[in-house]
Amino acid sequence: MPEDQSKDTSYKQRMQRKKAHIDSRIEEANIDKGIIVLLTGNGKGKSSSALGMVCRALGYDMKVAIVKFLKGVQDTGEDAFLAKQSNVQTVFMKTGFTWDTQDKEYDTAMAVETWTKAEKYLNDWLIDLVVLDELTYMISYKYLDEQQILTALNNRPKNQHVVITGRAASESLVDIADTVSEVKDIKHAFRENIKAQKGIDV
Ligand code: ATP
Ligand code: MG
Repeated sequence: MPEDQSKDTSYKQRMQRKKAHIDSRIEEANIDKGIIVLLTGNGKGKSSSALGMVCRALGYDMKVAIVKFLKGVQDTGEDAFLAKQSNVQTVFMKTGFTWDTQDKEYDTAMAVETWTKAEKYLNDWLIDLVVLDELTYMISYKYLDEQQILTALNNRPKNQHVVITGRAASESLVDIADTVSEVKDIKHAFRENIKAQKGIDV
């Protein structure tokens, strides 16, 4: 057999084996349920990835609730966009970053008030996807009771998806999540004194 033809045949065989393997894995994955996706790590891309899933869900006319546990000093482009989406409800914690307020009692009260709203969504079977943006900090700063969060996540409607974002996720959040990704920081433009860019960072 000429060399070129032999290469083609072996490529074809490899791809056939790969396809058979992938097809069998797809067939085995037959469980249909709401999942928890946890996006953590120090790199950029956690909240924006959560919003990518919001877009996906909206494409299927799914109902989405977003709870933002840290409101930045700036309104973001996605806030403006999501305000126009009839299938999205957004709740903002009424405080800035904790280093802006420097008032633990006030921050805790705001976190608890915001969590009460999140819990309502985690009880509502009409909501298909709940995003708990920057929730991890509420646990690490001890503003919220972790056990209460885990209980609400465990008791949510069977088909409801949840996306949680924030750095330094606790072990319990990693345990309860079905999919966990850690975004690694390799470089960030901010460290080169480039200010937050519209459409990319805010
Ligand atoms: P994004 O919202 O862009 O997906 P993120 O949710 O992963 O980012 P956060 O820690 O929530 O990251 O920070 C949000 C803001 O801080 C964004 O403007 C983002 O560009 C910026 N940022 C994220 N990671 C870093 C980093 N490692 N260094 C500096 N700024 C960062
Ligand atoms: Mg974020």
